Amino acid sequence: MLVRFWGTRGSLAKPGPGTLRYGGNTSCVEIRTASGALIVLDCGTGAHGLGQALSAEGAPVRGHLMITHTHWDHIQGFPFFAPLFQRANEWDIYAPGGLGLQLERTLAGQMEYTYFPVTLQQLGAVIRYHDLVEGSFMLDDVRVVTKYLNHPALALGYRLEADSVALVYSSDHEPHVPWVSMDSVAGAGDAPPAHREDLRHVEFLAGADLVIHDAQYDLAEYREKVGWGHTPAEYAVDYALAARARRLALYHHEPVRDDAGVDALLESCRRRVVSAGGQLEVFAAAEGQVIELAEGAGATMAATRPAAAPSGASPETILVADDDPTIVMLLRASLESDGFRVVTAGDGKAALDVARAERPALLLLDWQMPGISGVEVTRALRDDTDPAVRALPVVLITAQSGAENTAAGFAAGVTDYLTKPFRPAHVRARVRTWLLRRDDGAAER
Ligand SMILES: [Zn+2]
Ligand SMILES: [Zn+2]
Repeated sequence: MLVRFWGTRGSLAKPGPGTLRYGGNTSCVEIRTASGALIVLDCGTGAHGLGQALSAEGAPVRGHLMITHTHWDHIQGFPFFAPLFQRANEWDIYAPGGLGLQLERTLAGQMEYTYFPVTLQQLGAVIRYHDLVEGSFMLDDVRVVTKYLNHPALALGYRLEADSVALVYSSDHEPHVPWVSMDSVAGAGDAPPAHREDLRHVEFLAGADLVIHDAQYDLAEYREKVGWGHTPAEYAVDYALAARARRLALYHHEPVRDDAGVDALLESCRRRVVSAGGQLEVFAAAEGQVIELAEGAGATMAATRPAAAPSGASPETILVADDDPTIVMLLRASLESDGFRVVTAGDGKAALDVARAERPALLLLDWQMPGISGVEVTRALRDDTDPAVRALPVVLITAQSGAENTAAGFAAGVTDYLTKPFRPAHVRARVRTWLLRRDDGAAER
């Protein structure tokens, strides 16, 4: 498997003398398998160069473009990607969808007349759009596994298994609960993460020959950017170590970090590997860099459900229970703007009554409520005589994010957490993730 980095920068293209070595273009990676399959990961400004290279080859291009999410830095190269304009070419384009999110519509929005002179309909190539959820599918001889990332937009990571190697592309992801103190320089070593979602992420990376991972911040910067949806490089190392990955590419470089700054971050990551006693090889992804992944352990991830998003979406009801009217108002506004019906409760007893009567698709419960707490409501639901009520997904709203409390909630049957303070964009993305995932049996784990 051949890997070529066309864009490694996060958030904003940053060309200039300070970024010559690691590059200024945003997210885009080209993958070629031994059988000749072409997979492009993300379509940031780096895709312009890739498009020119593909066009120069002359032959018709058959390719697959996998988009993590549609933030600008991951799709800004799309209207400038030359192979989409040529009639002989055929492209399949994938991105997270469902619950009203539709890739074709989103990409068309970026190419409306106000923003761009050519519309999506004017692209000459045969293009098929695929809305994905978490799951897996086959592309010729490549097995693709998708997993939701923790980001203020619905985002998917991609794991590609082919040629006896596994590559994981995990751009724009934030740890759910850091399982090592931010003051620790030693790293996690083999310690497993405390949060179930972080454990899932480690499983997603498991045994990979190459992990390309969001490493936008360092730990000191991260303190100021909690909730922004990105991983400090030190935690990318911890994830990769826990997953026993072979190689880690630091990726999605912070726009204000110059080449010397990336060098320094890389050095500290390598020290972290050494102090954890790991074998992980770490490098910082550089624009133009090519890596050949020779036959590896052939690590495969367990089979999951098909990744095709269900078509059509019915309006869903969500219960918000919190004794703080400001939180209720904020959540109601965020969720209603996404077309959800919102019912509310001001304490635990009322939440239980509404849950039994309405059987909402999702419950957002404050941990600390007068009378019955969110955890106690969850326990009561899990003990209900009605199987439909027992299965309701419950997300606890909490300001407590310590490992101890996290574990206690999961033991009581909580599906996940929403940690205060939160931003509306993050809530919207997380709610979609929980709803799109609810019927895959994840709650049983
Ligand atoms: Zn990004
Ligand atoms: Zn993003």
